[in-house]
Amino acid sequence: MKKIYPLLLLVLVINCKRADRLLLATTESEVREMVSFLASDNLKGRNTGTPEIDKAAKYIEENFKSYGIKPYFEGYLDEFEIDSLKGYNVVGVMEGQDPKLKKEYVILGAHYDHIGYGNKVAQDSIANGANDNASGTAAVLTLAKYFAETRNNKRSIIFVLFSAEEKGLLGSEHLAQKLKQENCNLYTMFNFEMIGVPLVGRDYDVFVTGYDKSNVAKQLNTYHGSKWVGVSEVAKKHNLFRASDNYPFYQEFNLPSHTLSSCDLTNYDFYHKVGDEAQRLDYNYMANIINKMAPVIASVCNTPVREIKLN
Ligand SMILES: [Zn+2]
Repeated sequence: MKKIYPLLLLVLVINCKRADRLLLATTESEVREMVSFLASDNLKGRNTGTPEIDKAAKYIEENFKSYGIKPYFEGYLDEFEIDSLKGYNVVGVMEGQDPKLKKEYVILGAHYDHIGYGNKVAQDSIANGANDNASGTAAVLTLAKYFAETRNNKRSIIFVLFSAEEKGLLGSEHLAQKLKQENCNLYTMFNFEMIGVPLVGRDYDVFVTGYDKSNVAKQLNTYHGSKWVGVSEVAKKHNLFRASDNYPFYQEFNLPSHTLSSCDLTNYDFYHKVGDEAQRLDYNYMANIINKMAPVIASVCNTPVREIKLN
């Protein structure tokens, strides 16, 4: 007994470490690295139709591949046209583990495009789009990695990074119509926008747009075990529900489709400005939000019946 005891302890320690690794979707340094790449000056503000946004698309595709996330369509890139320009959504899928529930889909999305250049400030004219929306892109990527590792989703998950959001939700509109045409059995859609800076003076981490349209906030808080999702009166006033990529899915499918965000324009001075730079974000906060989100999304994917419903 004495002899095997240290060995048992070692096995226990190793298993705990493994469990820890599986429980957490991401780390502060991982999300910092992703945002720093996407929001670097090299990518020149990721304007749709530029060669620089193609580097971002390539980066997303390479990450999906490395995680073992398969393309949803034939390839990862879902092409669409905007006048003479081409835009590309990047779309991956993690099939569900339950033979019946896997026919139902949860979509996790974020736009990876931005506006390119902004008004010059001190010789800088690149609108880097760190918070808007390299932060949401990092959330979708790290959640894709989480589900590829844990495989704890009974429903299937489509991971999508939209282009041309800044040109009027064009990428999401294109994809929502395409999925509707092929009768995709959608359950719900979550869109991630600007989660790189903390909400101020609230007792929750993120707000959901379209708060009154469904029971989504209540359900997400129930799955988490305490309140972490709330309402934003500012978001309501500006109707942010219609201002991001969740909206075309709501329009096409008439199902709960919401944006989760921690920035309602009152707690960040650099929205659509050249100062929206990688070094301005709070990566500890961001990683924490994503790590809370991962098991909550797993619950969304695993309830025997659909619990999130329009009011
Ligand atoms: Zn945005």
